[in-house]
Amino acid sequence: MDFLSPATWADALAAKAEHPDAVPIAGGTDVMVELNFDRRRPPALLDLTRIPELAEHGADNGLIRVGAGVPYTRIIGELGDRLPGLAQASRTVGSPQIRNRGTVGGNLGSASPAGDAHPPLLACDATVELASVRGTRRVPVGEFFTGPKRSVLAPDELIAAVLLPAAEGPQQFAKVGTRNAMVIAVCSVAVALDPRAKTIGTGIGSAAPTPRRATDAEEFLAGELDSAGLWESRDELPDTLAQAFGERVAAAASPIDDVRGSAAYRLHSLSVMARRSVTWAWNDLRKAA
Ligand SMILES: Cc1cc2nc3c(=O)[nH]c(=O)nc-3n(C[C@H](O)[C@H](O)[C@H](O)COP(=O)(O)OP(=O)(O)OC[C@H]3O[C@@H](n4cnc5c(N)ncnc54)[C@H](O)[C@@H]3O)c2cc1C
Repeated sequence: MDFLSPATWADALAAKAEHPDAVPIAGGTDVMVELNFDRRRPPALLDLTRIPELAEHGADNGLIRVGAGVPYTRIIGELGDRLPGLAQASRTVGSPQIRNRGTVGGNLGSASPAGDAHPPLLACDATVELASVRGTRRVPVGEFFTGPKRSVLAPDELIAAVLLPAAEGPQQFAKVGTRNAMVIAVCSVAVALDPRAKTIGTGIGSAAPTPRRATDAEEFLAGELDSAGLWESRDELPDTLAQAFGERVAAAASPIDDVRGSAAYRLHSLSVMARRSVTWAWNDLRKAA
């Protein structure tokens, strides 16, 4: 197996163009498992850990640009105040060792329906920046996933970064697993409130062939909050409304039975987690008022 180790982004893109079957490796927390279990034997690995740009984050036209190689630990520590939903999800990933190595770029690269970064990225309408020697393109994260472990990433492309708005309001992430830590989600929910735009963003994980939004639930709740004047009054969120939101989030899912959980359990827990998450977020908004 060849090991390609470019030191610049331009060289990395050139290497991917020349060796489209080379497997990029960032933190290696997915790739190394596949190699160790002999599930994959690529002709080459393309090491991305020497590319400085991938490990950077910064402002980009009013958005926060997070390099594909920024590990979860740094998202939590350096961006948690501006990206609370992504930081909260990052805290649930694996263990400290996995969070030190694992990256959002790698989570997107694997494109697992259970990836914990995906729901918060969907809830705030993030954009994925892809690059190749042919140029750069930006894809809304809702269009990035095309199936289980499949995405729009072309064989000669690499993920450069993800772009997100700084949170305009409270964000929440909830996940159930078969135990408390070091666990892949049985299912997960992210919620992002934007009181200025009067919108609610959602993302659901591990409950459909791809991570997805629950747009009907988003529109329903935003409309109800608007017509009841709750965005202005910041009165308590009625339980009936939170419950109806939860039911709509579950209705957006199309889960399967698998080793981690049954479809019926996933639907039930999505509805409960969505109801709780939106109530927590709403209560945070009331406290901030
Ligand atoms: C013990 C353990 C616990 C885990 N727990 C969780 C968990 O709780 N939640 C969760 O979501 N995941 C979990 N994972 C999976 C993994 O840690 C995450 O998916 C992580 O985000 C992968 O990031 P990485 O940098 O290590 O990716 P890598 O393993 O380096 O790469 C993953 C995939 O992305 C591709 N890739 C990486 N970078 C790029 C790039 N810049 N451009 C194009 N393709 C790229 C690789 O080719 C590969 O296909 C766990 C893994 C382990 C081993």
